[in-house]
Amino acid sequence: MEYEDPFANALTQLASITDILSVDPEYYEMLKSPIREITVSLPLKLSNGNVVTFTGYRVQHNNARGPYKGGIRYHPKVSLSEVKALSMWMTWKSALIDIPFGGAKGGITVDPKKLTNDELERLTRKYVDAIEEEIGPEVDIPAPDLNTNAQTMAWIMNEYSRLKGHNVPSVVTGKPIELGGSEGRNAATGRGAGICVREAVQSFLHKDVKDVTVAVQGFGNVGTNTVKTLMGMGAKIIAISDVVGGARSKSSSGHFEQSFDELLDRSTKAGSVCKIAEVEEISNSELLESDVDVLIPAALENQITERNATKIRAKLIVEAANGPTTPMADKILGRMGVNIVPDILANSGGVLVSYFEWVQNLNRDHWSEEAVNDRLEGKMKKAFYDVLSYSRKDNIDLRRAALVLAVGRVVSAMRLSGWH
Ligand code: NAD
Repeated sequence: MEYEDPFANALTQLASITDILSVDPEYYEMLKSPIREITVSLPLKLSNGNVVTFTGYRVQHNNARGPYKGGIRYHPKVSLSEVKALSMWMTWKSALIDIPFGGAKGGITVDPKKLTNDELERLTRKYVDAIEEEIGPEVDIPAPDLNTNAQTMAWIMNEYSRLKGHNVPSVVTGKPIELGGSEGRNAATGRGAGICVREAVQSFLHKDVKDVTVAVQGFGNVGTNTVKTLMGMGAKIIAISDVVGGARSKSSSGHFEQSFDELLDRSTKAGSVCKIAEVEEISNSELLESDVDVLIPAALENQITERNATKIRAKLIVEAANGPTTPMADKILGRMGVNIVPDILANSGGVLVSYFEWVQNLNRDHWSEEAVNDRLEGKMKKAFYDVLSYSRKDNIDLRRAALVLAVGRVVSAMRLSGWH
């Protein structure tokens, strides 16, 4: 049975490029383990008077290229192994999209749906109090991830600023615009994923994006903005899912014909995309096995494994989520001729616009949405074609090509600054 421990998967991926990129064993050893792993206990008095202790993590993988950077996730399945894997992927992602950040990740093992808004705010502030010494604008800059959003970032910024005695907007990114957030940050990950889909469809399927069918797993920040971007490009979205279940369009054309705003509004009101009238309810497994040109996992890791890889019918997978494909599934899909745009490339639009936000905060500046989106488009396309040409030159898959480029940049920074 395949080992689905996320950190073990991240190490397998790192090991998969050592035959191409000769990494000095000393640096390889340093890259295998995060520099710092912080685990904190967060006792919280609930509104019913009971006290529950939650566990929080912040893992800092590598900062050779700049301050640690990475999101904070609230989920009942958050574990140290998961946060370690995500922190390593952040190091590669920042290097690949070529911004001066390292990699980190954080999380709290909690089901946020079971807490009130007030409890969530107090839990977030407790987490900041516990890790305050380890974060900061030049040290480690958190951002949103699964089940956290601009409001969570506003609480983090406010608590950190309170502890420091002055306003520090650049300690987090993904903030509300009113508090120094960047235009375009909320949509950035999905927008970047959409750009990757468009370019990959041209490069591998030799089609225009408006002529392809797409299924998207996950309808949160990344999933909705990916769908919105692709609908804007004219792609045909035929199935979408969320944690409750999946929805396949029942329209005569086979794809969702309503506008994106209507789709979002209806799914919000119904409580799930699968509860909208005029859709056929399907399971999440059925969604992954949809007969489409492009499959976009945009929810959780370990969704495409050795158990379902052979059932995938899409010709192209664009990993908007982190770690959705296990190494074993990767091999199976490779043999099936399925091209995969890896997570560290496909979802790097988020950290890229987070970097833009940090730069704006440090300069007390505010860019227009058009300026942000233009820069996002330019950087995403450059990273996509750098990876594509490397993969074609060395005849390797996109994941290994992306990793070789990213790890090579990190090792070079370590070597130049004398990390030994
Ligand atoms: P989110 O909390 O906004 O949305 C998550 C979505 O996934 C929700 O629609 C939820 O219902 C759905 N979901 C949860 N469990 C599911 C399951 N078992 N099956 C199907 N759907 C399920 O989170 P997000 O920010 O959109 O993050 C999604 C993924 O993208 C994560 O892997 C995250 O690490 C990655 N990511 C996010 C960002 C960002 O900027 N938010 C950046 C890079 C990568």
